[in-house]
Amino acid sequence: MSANSFAARLLGWYRRHARVLPWRKHKEPWATWVSEVMLQQTRVEVVIPAFDRFLKRYPRPADFARASDDELHAAWRGLGYYRRARLLRDGASDVVARHRGSVPSDLDALGALAGVGAYTRGAIASIAFGHAEPAIDGNVERVVARHAGIDSDVKRSATRRRIEAIVRERLPISRAGDFNQALMDLGAMVCTPRSPKCRVCPVADDCEARRLGVEQELPRLPARRAPIAVQARAVLVRHRDGRVLGGRIEDGAVNAGQIELPSPGILADHPDAGDALAHALFERYGARFAIGEVVARVRHGITHHRIALEVHAATLIGRSGVRLKWHAIDFDTVPWSTPSRKALRIGDLARVRAVSDEGLASR
Ligand code: SF4
Repeated sequence: MSANSFAARLLGWYRRHARVLPWRKHKEPWATWVSEVMLQQTRVEVVIPAFDRFLKRYPRPADFARASDDELHAAWRGLGYYRRARLLRDGASDVVARHRGSVPSDLDALGALAGVGAYTRGAIASIAFGHAEPAIDGNVERVVARHAGIDSDVKRSATRRRIEAIVRERLPISRAGDFNQALMDLGAMVCTPRSPKCRVCPVADDCEARRLGVEQELPRLPARRAPIAVQARAVLVRHRDGRVLGGRIEDGAVNAGQIELPSPGILADHPDAGDALAHALFERYGARFAIGEVVARVRHGITHHRIALEVHAATLIGRSGVRLKWHAIDFDTVPWSTPSRKALRIGDLARVRAVSDEGLASR
């Protein structure tokens, strides 16, 4: 079966079954860029309302380049993984500084923008500018690995190069954007991670995985690292008006820009409650606390860490210092970090409660 025939069958299927998604109406580089960044690690149903809201508020890169941290968090609400939003803002600033506010069509210039990796570059270049570039995400990787019967770890660079070469060979020069989106849709709707629907697949006739009956076993993925268990502590200090004390997470740290309950951070030498915790907090913030009982226990998974956070009631002695401020317990306007939100959501903070990841939205 020729490469053309693969593309023809795929595009024929796409004409009939393409998902109706708001960003496909735009085909405009900024809209494509925003949608692709939002779709990384977030489900389509969650992205749709956030995308419309975002583009209304920030119709051009220059508008978002000026957004403050709090505005950025409000715009990204519900999507999680805020680092993506910060990189998108950095990229928008690059567009303003280097390209007079217009997303460049040149491949090298696109790839040099902050936060624009190979996948995002390929997606913007092909969908918005019509360049014959592949855009290989997890969906595409899976479809190609199965269709070509690739039996090696898809995250290894040699395998990635092989997958890219196959996509490039099959990419129709005049319809690269549609081809890339069709592959993504096929991966999302038909060649799904579990139980691929081979009987309705437009490229089933020459699918190697199907021929060998190994579609459930491919793609091969690296073994998952066992999560590392980490203990952490934080304090809950209430103002009499109901606000609570929080600090902004520093640049470069995970969840930078978000607000967290005062905490010594994740330390190799986990401080005990009482004096040790008070001392560690003083070291970090220059503020003194009287530490009380545990009022919340929270479990949270982040990258390959499983964090068990204990939150103590505490009282501020003297001033809070410049690094801590009073914040409302309002998850729409204040970008509380997920572990802090979990702790704050425990209604009755006078009693110890256990909160599991399953009980609360993780992002
Ligand atoms: S035939 Fe099955 S395994 Fe092969 S590409 Fe189609 S859905 Fe995926």
